[in-house]
Amino acid sequence: MRAVQLIQIGKPLENKDVPIPEIGAQDVLIRVAAAGICHSDAHYRSGISKIDNLPVTLGHEIAGQVERVGKEATNVAAGRVCVHYLVHCGSCEFCTRGLEQFCRKGQMIGKHRDGGYAEFINVPARNAFVLPDEISFEVGAIMMCSSATALHALNKARLKAGESVAIFGFGGLGFSALQLARAINCGDVFVVEINPTKLASIAKLGAVAIDANDGDPVAQIKEATNGKGVDVSLELIGSAKTMRQAVQCLGVLGRAALVGLTAESMSIFPYTEVINKEAEIIGVSDHLATELPLLLEFVRSGKLRFPAEALRVVDLEAGQINAALDQLQHSIDHVRTVIVPRSAR
Ligand SMILES: [Zn+2]
Ligand SMILES: [Zn+2]
Repeated sequence: MRAVQLIQIGKPLENKDVPIPEIGAQDVLIRVAAAGICHSDAHYRSGISKIDNLPVTLGHEIAGQVERVGKEATNVAAGRVCVHYLVHCGSCEFCTRGLEQFCRKGQMIGKHRDGGYAEFINVPARNAFVLPDEISFEVGAIMMCSSATALHALNKARLKAGESVAIFGFGGLGFSALQLARAINCGDVFVVEINPTKLASIAKLGAVAIDANDGDPVAQIKEATNGKGVDVSLELIGSAKTMRQAVQCLGVLGRAALVGLTAESMSIFPYTEVINKEAEIIGVSDHLATELPLLLEFVRSGKLRFPAEALRVVDLEAGQINAALDQLQHSIDHVRTVIVPRSAR
């Protein structure tokens, strides 16, 4: 079968002919119908994120058709599925508590093991989730990464109906977080951005756009909430400055969920900004398999949408995929590129 692999860090991905994977008793073989090209794939290729088992087939946002089911696999049958990208042991102290993102033997699909830039992939059956007919394969693929993490962030922040939310950064995570917050029936949503195109689309999605070019976003949020601040904030950018703002804009009992990655340190005034308000600062890492059924239902019912104009399709071909990865390193818009193998069309 065709697979597009990372052979050497810093070099373009290459087309390879590899055997169709064998499946174990608890695995399924999936014919890949769509594989999202993600920002982290660009980071693997460039070496910003370390990857040490080369060559590897990239691709962790995957949807397709189950073609073969292992003898002991009972949760899925042949049919449409999307894939949870973390393969975990299922039996360690974390897995047994439903916290598989901390599994010591955890393997990220498309990083630690071969991913979806291929015609077929084998995954443990428990990583396959039935994809409802109403959801296209393309959307089924891309929703398995940033949207799932956005939902996890809202869950970690314990967002409840009626509560107000401030979202810092309107990239792929923010785009999903805004719609998911509304799906949970939250109160006012404020989205902090500096990009004019994104600021315009925020208002169209029914949120209050906070233009950080117009002065301190914390002051703007406080003013818009009559001095109260928000119940929940999400930091999706990965900068110490916006993390601090995400804490500062909280009201009494507010929760700041930090999702963006940075190596910088952040300083806050513990008394006035946390203790006095009984505010919480919460770390968010990845997402959980148990969160995916609700996410699928939000997409199935149209509460989380990915407009068709925001999807671009390429073939399973190294040249086209490398070009898409090049573009991702510079892009600021919401256009997502999805690989649809010719053999699956
Ligand atoms: Zn991704
Ligand atoms: Zn485990």
